[in-house]
Amino acid sequence: MDCDSIMQENILVTRSSLPEFEEYIDEIRSMWDDHWLTNMGRKHERLRSELREYLGVEEIELFTNGHMAIELALLGFHLKGEVITTPFTFASTTHAIVRSGLKPVFCDIDPETYTIDPKKLRERITDRTAAILPVHVYGNVCQVDEIDKIAREYGLKVIYDAAHTFGVTCRGKGIGSYGDASCFSFHATKVFNTIEGGAVCYSSRDKDFGEQIYLLKDFGISREDQVEAIGANAKLNEFCAAMGLCNLRHINEEIAKREKVVSRYRERLSKVKGIVLNKVQKDVKSNYAYFPVLFDEDVFGASRDQVAERLREKGIFARKYFYPPTNAFECYRTEYDPFETPITMSVSKKVLTLPLYADLSLSDVDRICELIIQMER
Ligand SMILES: *Cc1c(COP(=O)(O)O)cnc(C)c1O
Repeated sequence: MDCDSIMQENILVTRSSLPEFEEYIDEIRSMWDDHWLTNMGRKHERLRSELREYLGVEEIELFTNGHMAIELALLGFHLKGEVITTPFTFASTTHAIVRSGLKPVFCDIDPETYTIDPKKLRERITDRTAAILPVHVYGNVCQVDEIDKIAREYGLKVIYDAAHTFGVTCRGKGIGSYGDASCFSFHATKVFNTIEGGAVCYSSRDKDFGEQIYLLKDFGISREDQVEAIGANAKLNEFCAAMGLCNLRHINEEIAKREKVVSRYRERLSKVKGIVLNKVQKDVKSNYAYFPVLFDEDVFGASRDQVAERLREKGIFARKYFYPPTNAFECYRTEYDPFETPITMSVSKKVLTLPLYADLSLSDVDRICELIIQMER
């Protein structure tokens, strides 16, 4: 299928937020005066300062995407050895560890939040462990206190993959302020987008780390005639930063609209037997990033795959997210055994994330729920 035929009439799992066309044009107009298109220009600097405030973090550095944010955060701490992480995540998290010359060690997830299970962390720690890289899955917050306690005890860095948690707060504190660093993605499909983009948030005590990641995103060049680190090119350009400035003006509205969609889904699906909905976490202000549903085939009467197929026939594209888990990827098959993380395996086989975006109409939500309920035994 080409892009045109996919977009027509179908409901996709997500739809990128865009400002009004004129708003974006007004935002980029000044770039025709100064011809400064990338390399930490005015839009970049303004977005950085607005995001620091919105996210409630001490320091923030912007990147070309969320993946490079994670990779360069790992490099910025000069880590060596093993990183304990979760296989229930997007490819990026695990790839970032491997591509930074580190070895992922997989820890299973908690069955209620789908985030790394702190009770299983200790048994994964060895004298080679350098860091923990947990993921705030679907906007669910990790057990930050337990993770922090263990990390302190063993002197490990904690780097959060916060790609799903833009705007989430935990006990009133911005989620990006937990851990030694938190990495966000501003990809087109995320709650807040800069088309492509990402960020690393960190503490103002870590000035060295901040300097490192700044160097690393610009080839390691510190002065015209001085290259200090083996960097990459991971800068956020001005057009993307301008998109971010526009989208940030509407973010609270967008999240409020998502909340309406999610409560409609909950209303319609919460009583269906064999369907498990995402738990609401207390002390957490959600961003309603995803709506994962677990299908227990024996009780519900149809498998996750059957539901996905049925919806697809009707032009509704839900997503098996995350399936397969990263420790079952073809490229890691020789090194990892996905049966070592049974909860991940089980959730991964049952989960379907239903379409969710700010402008999804409640009548479409009803139609999706109707189709699902029809499949109930
Ligand atoms: C989107 C995502 C990333 C990668 O972000 P990009 O901006 O697409 O590079 C990393 N981890 C998770 C969990 C994600 O969902």
